[in-house]
Order: sequence, then structure tokens, then C-alpha cells
Amino acid sequence: MDKITFAYKGRYFVRDTNTIEYLSAIAKGYGYSTGLVYDQDIFGVTDNVFYMPIINKMFSSENNVAKKIAKVKPEYVVFIENFGNLKWIENISRNLKAINDKAKIIIIRPLERKETAVKYDYLLTGEPENVFADFLRDKGLRNIDSEKLADLNTLPLPDKDIFSQYINFSDSYMTYTGKGCAGSCSYCEETAYKNEYSSRYCRRRSPENVISELVWAKKKFNFKEVIFKDSVFTIDALWLKKFLKSYREEIAVPFKCFGKADAVDENIIKDLKNSGCYCIEFGVQTLNEEIRKNVLFRKEKTEQIKSILEICGQHELKYDVDHMFGLPYEKLEDHIKAAEFYSNLKSLNRIKCHNLTYYPKAEILRFAAQSGDIDEKLIEKISRGEISDFFAKPQKQAMMKENACFRKLFKIMPLMTRETNSFIIVKGFWKLFSYIPNIFIVFLQLILALRRNDLRFKIYFKQYPKKMLSFVTQG
Ligand code: SF4
Repeated sequence: MDKITFAYKGRYFVRDTNTIEYLSAIAKGYGYSTGLVYDQDIFGVTDNVFYMPIINKMFSSENNVAKKIAKVKPEYVVFIENFGNLKWIENISRNLKAINDKAKIIIIRPLERKETAVKYDYLLTGEPENVFADFLRDKGLRNIDSEKLADLNTLPLPDKDIFSQYINFSDSYMTYTGKGCAGSCSYCEETAYKNEYSSRYCRRRSPENVISELVWAKKKFNFKEVIFKDSVFTIDALWLKKFLKSYREEIAVPFKCFGKADAVDENIIKDLKNSGCYCIEFGVQTLNEEIRKNVLFRKEKTEQIKSILEICGQHELKYDVDHMFGLPYEKLEDHIKAAEFYSNLKSLNRIKCHNLTYYPKAEILRFAAQSGDIDEKLIEKISRGEISDFFAKPQKQAMMKENACFRKLFKIMPLMTRETNSFIIVKGFWKLFSYIPNIFIVFLQLILALRRNDLRFKIYFKQYPKKMLSFVTQG
């Protein structure tokens, strides 16, 4: 049987891994056997809790990945390009060609970009599920370039087995009920996909289709929780109502999902809670309303966010909020305002801190240039895809030190009382956070997770030693 090996670097709970699961299932449908060479990027930049570059170096070897691929002697090796992995693909493909030039390299390119130094045999440009199926149907004879989108309801069940050596699906089962997002935030990759494929890209599977996957997966893995990774799970009230009814009847395990303050109301919150939702995550990003609206292109008003978080509190539905650092034009008073806002919230589970990342063609590049955070040269490089690290970091950012302090403070805020948080903010003690080592903050986050019975964090910590062990035993 012909073999296809997928190569992937990064954490598991993201879109690309789900795409690989679908591609593997499609390939099996065409009679191929499939495998995976997986660099879990331990302590790497794709890890949103434990990013420790020095330790990451100890756990990564691009030559090893190429050797592992060569060892299984595949007919095809498949890479899916994303904003952060161009350099990695370039290095692996070069190393691989040097030790085994028989394996044919397939690059799947979901977003149009200029040519890079990646060595490949086939280039499939378009939505992965669609172009890969076309390629296999044609018996691997040609490059494909297609704007067509896959019908999500006719895809096979995702091949979870391909990651089962690394991920314990009985702890947590990840699924997506659709693709894309109705929003057009200036910094977001979903906006890039919408711009590439038009608004048709934003679509959803039927409730029945999603439930049938979950029924199958529950039987197979007996999972304890589900995470719906859709950008805005609550976007369609009618779809959600129908889905949740079946979910309560046929699945009935706790779940986590993502909402948006202007795409949720009290009825939805109640329905989510009654259906087993134990946590919902909202993007807040900044408490500066003008920046949120005019720079980030987010339409939610602060009052709207506040009101929906209060409703979650009233119905005892825990929530996480996403806060972003490194925004153009942000000032110290915006962080102080955010800290005051967060310290007054009830049922707040976690403040998840993110750094702004710059994607090619993202609208936010314009504001970053105007504010002086980055210069034209860097924008050029980002646009050409030459900066292929996950973070194209701002060159100069006036708020670096303040950002570092508030990032640490926000991570542990829900652990402290409202009075303590207020004292830290009013007295300016937030400045002292620059002296607190990151590892201590991680330790406090762990305590917070245990106190809150935070399922996601527990799973994360449970899986980390397994990740490290699998690196040591398998290289
Ligand atoms: S709402 Fe979220 S997922 Fe949608 S475009 Fe904005 S940031 Fe992206």
C-alpha cells in the first residue's frame, strides 16, 4: 500500500491538526496508508503557557524530523503551510531531500503567497480538504490550484488515530463545527481566510453531522469533555439551539466553547449552562474602546462585554477572557483600566494573555506602522512571507516593560481578592511584577487551575510530562 506521511510542528489544539485528521481520513478512503511525524514544539512558540525558547532548543531537532520521515519510506510527504511554519518546512524539506530524494513532497498552500525556498514536488493551492482530495482522485499526477471549498457535511470522520499516540482523547475531544468567522478583525487569520476565499468561507456543518461525529467519538474514546474550537460557537442562535438539544440528549458531557459579546445573549448563556458548558471564552483584547473599534475592528462595546460577563456570573457560567498585548497606540492607562475592569468580574476563570502577531496583508500592519511599532521594511518582509517565525515581533514598542508586568499580573489576578488587585493597581505595585520569575507565575496559575477545577489547564499539565517522555523515548 502507498504511504503518505504528514509532517506537523506545533500544539495539538488548533485547526491544522484537525485538518490533518481529515486529510488522513480522505487519503485512507482512496486506499493509502497514512502516518505522522510530529514535532510537538515542547516549550516552543506555539505553546501559549510554557514558552521557553532556551529549553525548546533542547527538545527540537529538524534533522531528526527529516530522518524520521525518511525512515518510514513514504511515497508522499505532506506539509500544510501556515503563517508560522515556512522556515520549518523549508529546513525539513531540504534535509529530507538530502537523505532521501525518493519521497515526493506535497505542499498544501491554503493562502496565496510568493514562492519560498521550500523544495517540493507538488503544490496544492486552495482549501486543504478540497485540493488534497482532487490530487488523490487524479492519482497524484499534477499540481492543483482551486478556489472551490469543501462541503463540510460530506467529509469523512476525522482520523483521530493519527494523533492518538500523542493525545489522550478520553481526557478531551477537540472538534470544529464549521470554518471561518463572520468577524473581520484587523489582526486575525480568520480575516485572511475570508479575504482569500470570500465570505463563503464562513460556514458550518449541520447539527446532525456534528452530533454523529460526537456519538462515534464518545463510543470510541469515552471522552470526559469536549472542546469546540470554532471562533465563535454562539454565532447562530437557531443552529445552537437545535444542536444543544441533541447534545444534551446524546452526548451530555461537559464542554468548553468560544463566544463573542455581540453574538450571545442571556437565553444562549442559560442554554449553554444547561447543556453542560463549563466555561466560555470571550475576546476582550483591550479596554480602550477606540482602539478596539478603530484599530482592531471589533464591534463590541465595553458595556456590552461587561453586561454579558455579568450574565455569565449570574448563571454561574465560568468564563475566560482573552487580552492582547502589543497593540498600536496603547498606553499605560489602558492597562490600568483593564486591570480595574478585570478585578471587578465575578466567575472570571482566567485572563488569557496573547501577544499581537502580524500576518501578511493584515490591516493592523497599517496601524502598527503609523504608530511607529514597526517600519516599512519589516512590513515588506512580513508581506513577502520572509518572516516566517510565529511572531513577527514589533521592533520598538514603548510599552514593553509595562506589558511584561501587566501580562504577569493578569495571569494571576483571579487568584487574588478584588481588594488585593485594587491595592496593587492603585499603589503602582504592578511595577514589581517585572521582578517575579515566569516560572513562579506558572506555578501560581497551576494553583489557580486547581482551585477553579479548570479542566483545560489540568489536561494541559497532565499531557506535558507525556509530551516530554515521548520526545525522550522516540527522539
Ligand atoms: S471575532 Fe475572533 S475569530 Fe472572528 S475575526 Fe475577530 S478575532 Fe478572528
